[in-house]
This record gives sequence, structure tokens and C-alpha cells, in this order.
Amino acid sequence: MKVLVTGGAGYIGSHVVKQLGEAGHDIIVYDNLSTGYEWAVTYGELIVGDLADVDKLDSVFAAHDFEAVLHFAAHIVVPESVENPLKYYRNNTRNTLNLLGIIEKYKTPYMVFSSTAAVYGMPDEKVLTEDMPLAPINPYGASKMMSEQMIRDLSFATDLKHVILRYFNVAGADLQSRLGQATPEATHLIKVACECASGVRPGMKVFGTDYETRDGTCIRDYIHVDDLAKAHVMALDYMSKGGDSEILNCGYGSGFTVKEVIDVVKEKSGQDFNVEETGRRAGDPDALMADNTRIKKTLGWEPDHADLGVIVQSALDWEKKWQASKND
Ligand code: UDP
Repeated sequence: MKVLVTGGAGYIGSHVVKQLGEAGHDIIVYDNLSTGYEWAVTYGELIVGDLADVDKLDSVFAAHDFEAVLHFAAHIVVPESVENPLKYYRNNTRNTLNLLGIIEKYKTPYMVFSSTAAVYGMPDEKVLTEDMPLAPINPYGASKMMSEQMIRDLSFATDLKHVILRYFNVAGADLQSRLGQATPEATHLIKVACECASGVRPGMKVFGTDYETRDGTCIRDYIHVDDLAKAHVMALDYMSKGGDSEILNCGYGSGFTVKEVIDVVKEKSGQDFNVEETGRRAGDPDALMADNTRIKKTLGWEPDHADLGVIVQSALDWEKKWQASKND
């Protein structure tokens, strides 16, 4: 298929581009390189552009007859979205609207959209199905929920077919360390802990030890980035074979506490580092895990790397390589 990948130079997008390339798809990446890197685009052509630049986007669609758009480009830092909400509504919601306008104009048949478990907010349940009410508690989650709504409405009104993927906690890296998370000032747990293990961060904090969980710290469902990437390739295949529009959770259905994750990072790296137990971070639910029944049934998706040790080892290997390359 001829596909456009927005945000294809970023962490998740670049892993998907790799798998799309391996599967033989013809790829154009559209990325403003705000958090992505040219080296991360391992297949296809990179066009450096912003989704706010509708004329440029239009010219890219005019030049290529895309069968599908995979839309990753977005801001993703929850605390930043609370401090600067309009940045999120502009880049995530408004720019998705821009993209949908062009998709409508050129009648692109298929779309895969990167959504998030943050659309569920602070649910009462610990294992979440796609049918649970959406109640985001921060602008990041709201910006994605609004994007989902626009995509669903456009699909209802036109021939567009979509698969919305709601990501749980994405982590790890390409097993050969060709790609990985290179985001500066990362906030995500596994990335932060790997930075501590590799010595570039002096220590880290555990946000809250009084949650209703087995050791008092929050439980999350960590999914290897290549298992997530596989879901995107399978979603395209599914739609091209006539599958209906769907919303699918992406996670393993089980979880680990913050302390368990840190212990695995220490064990795998052989490094001890400073961990300070502090108060809760605003807006953290005690446990979030995906009910993944639907993605398994709909796409036939099964994970290949559902092992926290593998996730952490791949993240550590990548971190080492990335830090070494920065010192060259
Ligand atoms: N967390 C932590 N210390 C950190 C980063 C994260 O204790 O330096 C905790 C965070 O409070 C949450 C879990 O780790 O309970 C996962 O957080 P992350 O930011 O990785 O993902 P989120 O679940 O917020 O999307």
C-alpha cells in the first residue's frame, strides 16, 4: 500500500515505519522533526513539514495517491498539557482536523490513529474495555478523545475506514537497537530508570507509595513498541480486506508496579541508583491495564515480546547506544 505516516520520525512512528517497510509498503513520512530524527526513518521518503501547514500537506496528497494514513504526530507529555493546554489542542486536535480535511478531499480510504488509555481518565475498573466511558482528566487525553470523535464522525459520513488504537504504556526498543526512544527530558518510567542505570541521570523518584496495589505503587500495562507496531501493520491489512472501523486497546492485559519495574531495570543493568519515594503525581490512577480481547479477536494480534525483562533489556541496550552516539 502507498501510505502516509505523520510523525514517522518519532519513537513509535519510526518502529511502525520499519515494520511497514519490511512488509513491503511504500512509505512517505511527514514529520516536523520537533521530537523526531531523520535517522529514525529507515524506509521510504521523509518530507519535513508541519500539519499546521495545510498547503504543504495538500501538495503531498496531490503528489501521491495514498491508500492509508497512519497518524502519530502529536504532543504526548501529560503535565505539559495541563500547563499549556492550547499547545495540545492546536497540535493534536486542530492538526488532526487539518489532516482529516485533506483525507476527505482526496478520499483516502483508510486511517490508523494513535490514541491513548488517557482517554479513559480515572476509571473505577483496573482492566479496561473499549466500551468504558471516556472521561479524560487532562488536556492530552481530551485532545486525543476529540480527535477520535472527529475521525469517527468523518467515517460515518464518508467511505473512510479507521482503526483507532488506544495505547497503554509503550516501552522498549528495536531488539537490534537500530531505533529507540531518543526524546530529551523524557518523563516515562522505563526511559527514566534506564537513564539512571546508564548514569546520565543521578536518580529518580517514585511518585506515590500509598496506592491500593500490592506494594503501594501504581500498576501499568507495559507493551513493547514492536508489539504495538505490529498492531498497526495488522490494522492496515484488516481494513484492506474489508474490515469495519474499530477502536482497539493495545496492551498485554497484565501489569507491573513502579517498584517492580525499577527492580527489573536494576537487575538487568547490574546498576544500583538512587530512588526517592515521594508523594503522588497529580492524575495518576492506581492501576491501568488493557482488556485486549477485542484486538486479538479483530486483528488476530498476539504479542511477541510480552516479557518485562525483554522490554527493559531492549530499552537498556538502546539507551547505551544512544548515549554513546551523542558522545561521538
Ligand atoms: N513514575 C514514577 N517515577 C517517574 C516516572 C513515572 O514513579 O520518574 C510512575 C508514574 O507516577 C506512574 C507510572 O510510573 O504511576 C507510569 O508513569 P509514566 O509517566 O511512565 O506513564 P503514564 O502511565 O503516566 O502514561
